[in-house]
Amino acid sequence: MDNFGETASRHMPRHFFWKCLDLDHDSAVRADVSKQNYSVCPRHWYIDATFKCSRCSKTFCFTAAEQKKWYEDLGFYVDSCAKDCLNCRHDKRVQKTLRQKYDRDIESTLNSNDAEEKQRLVDVIDRLCSLDSALPARIHENRKTLGEQIARIHRVDGG
Ligand SMILES: [Zn+2]
Repeated sequence: MDNFGETASRHMPRHFFWKCLDLDHDSAVRADVSKQNYSVCPRHWYIDATFKCSRCSKTFCFTAAEQKKWYEDLGFYVDSCAKDCLNCRHDKRVQKTLRQKYDRDIESTLNSNDAEEKQRLVDVIDRLCSLDSALPARIHENRKTLGEQIARIHRVDGG
């Protein structure tokens, strides 16, 4: 009886690699379970695992090295697993940062008279648009308003 796959990676419980398309057991490296965050069942091995990205649908490898980083260095719970490819994870982080900047600045920028400040937020919105095709209509409306305000300021400046 192999305790949760302690002696062989092939005996690891399947839920650890749920929805996985392919597991490369030749890549298996032993984990340091003392560094893991788990309740009952640790991950005794890290194994290169192929998944389909939930965002862009491309296949990607959640590597043994990444798993070691997630579960030993970053303290992620062992039952968590990568859902998205590296590119999409990066895009999501950028998207989140841009959205926070937008939410923080939109009111004051709509009310300001500074064309450059407005332009900076227009650029933020355009980058958000390129990462997220389903932005709320309100954001598109605010982008239009900012564009009109910028044009008005330039007209006044130009005499
Ligand atoms: Zn992806």
